[in-house]
Amino acid sequence: MSFAHPEPTSDLMIRNESPDQFDAAFSVENFIGAIEIAANKIGGLLNDQSIRGVSLQRPQTLISAARTLMSGDEKKLFDPDRFSAIVDLYLRTGIQVNSRGYLARQFSSVVPVSAVFDLITAMAPQPASFYEAGQLANAVDKIMAEEFGRLIGWPAGSFDMVATSGTSLANLTAVLAARNRRLAGSWEHGVAFTKRKGRPAIAMGMDAHFSVTRLAGILGIGQNQIIRLPLNALRQICPDKAAATLRSAADCGLDVFCIVAAAGTTSIGANDPLAELADLARAHDAWLHVDAAHNGAFLVSDSLRPRLKGLELADSFCLDAHKMLFVPALCTLLFYRDKEVADTAFPQQASYVSEDRNDEISRFESGMKNFECTKRPSILNLWLVWALFGRRFFENKLNHLVAMTLSAHDYLTGLPDFKVMHRPESNILCFTYCPDGLPAFQRSRLQLALRNRIRAEGRYFISMVNLDGENVLRMVIMNHRIGLEDIAGLTDEIRCCAREILEEWNGTPSLSVACREDVSVKTADASC
Ligand SMILES: *Cc1c(COP(=O)(O)O)cnc(C)c1O
Repeated sequence: MSFAHPEPTSDLMIRNESPDQFDAAFSVENFIGAIEIAANKIGGLLNDQSIRGVSLQRPQTLISAARTLMSGDEKKLFDPDRFSAIVDLYLRTGIQVNSRGYLARQFSSVVPVSAVFDLITAMAPQPASFYEAGQLANAVDKIMAEEFGRLIGWPAGSFDMVATSGTSLANLTAVLAARNRRLAGSWEHGVAFTKRKGRPAIAMGMDAHFSVTRLAGILGIGQNQIIRLPLNALRQICPDKAAATLRSAADCGLDVFCIVAAAGTTSIGANDPLAELADLARAHDAWLHVDAAHNGAFLVSDSLRPRLKGLELADSFCLDAHKMLFVPALCTLLFYRDKEVADTAFPQQASYVSEDRNDEISRFESGMKNFECTKRPSILNLWLVWALFGRRFFENKLNHLVAMTLSAHDYLTGLPDFKVMHRPESNILCFTYCPDGLPAFQRSRLQLALRNRIRAEGRYFISMVNLDGENVLRMVIMNHRIGLEDIAGLTDEIRCCAREILEEWNGTPSLSVACREDVSVKTADASC
């Protein structure tokens, strides 16, 4: 067969007989059957009180298991058993966000009813960038913007909010708007052809998320034009040192057009001093963007909101509702203090805003302001929970998580063999295990080995970060069912794992690590 003259194949002909797979794939009966299977399994998952971490498989093992589920009859009809097995494989190999053993990451279990709504928006899709396709999502954008605007303290009608898919995209969008403001013409002619003196540069804290450091590469600024702002003892950007750093950057011919601060750093959940940084940004005529992916949700809590003091002075900030507002990913809100700049990130549309795009309906559309073309209407999941349970629900859950993390901090502080790295600002706590007699050269290595062994044991799941070259363990309390007894269980697990590791390293049980007698017995209530 030649490529130039392809034979017509029967595959391309319209079939007369009713194709079975079509029927099976779109059958309402099969759909409802699948929902029943899924609902039972998810119900079981939510009822499962066991303490479990992650069951990590070798990638090849998992690929084989998944391949097995694809074999068999070519003429596939809907097979409920196969569907069931696929769901099981997914759930079994996943992070167990509903378990009290899950303390690793900022992903959260979601409010169940919001996930049900997510299914509805998948089944009855309404791409949310354009009003005619996603009317309610666009209307709800305005409602959520008003709710948050009131909490921020911005005058009604003065600001704008764009719903987008992840803080990585929100950071990109905001810093792009900042770049377009300072480097006039860069959108049309490219960064290299702008007339400004000095090399364009972005300033950010030492603990900035990797989605922020990436921006310099994406936006044509270059990684070498990233200015890292020094941190203080609380791992916040230190405004005084930052001022000095910015002055020397200017002396070196760098033109800092944007400062990216954080409210809730990934490493320890620290909030930068936003009011001071807003002053600093103003002094340099730079845009202040706040990556508030994690702690931005504090806006909904009367007692936590003061920790975001100065956020209202930022030019832009974003928060991830799929983190601390407990709805399905991705759901991110990007706010601009001045509504006029919301469509300057992607100005190709703005250049032909004309009479026909300025009507009542066009003014409601977000398509010109967000990165996506097709966009899930995820904002509806957030609005739904807000409508059903109210702002106070979010407030209560956040307050509880932060208070619980502080209790965990106090508990670890009282243990002689644990060391906390900071007082938590949020629900993230970094700590190390360093029993008496642990040589300094083994300290950092031990934390890495502990993270790996605890993960392999599968009872608890925690994470690790590197602070100034030292590995430290990290817990993120996203689950409101976690209590101090779980933190105690985790410390037992850490001690047991440490003893095993140190025996392997040192040959002898040289350290006075208290541990249960038989480390091979791992039951849910094993104690040391
Ligand atoms: C999670 C997080 C991000 C990345 O957000 P995505 O929604 O995963 O794209 C960026 N910055 C901070 C501080 C975060 O916590």
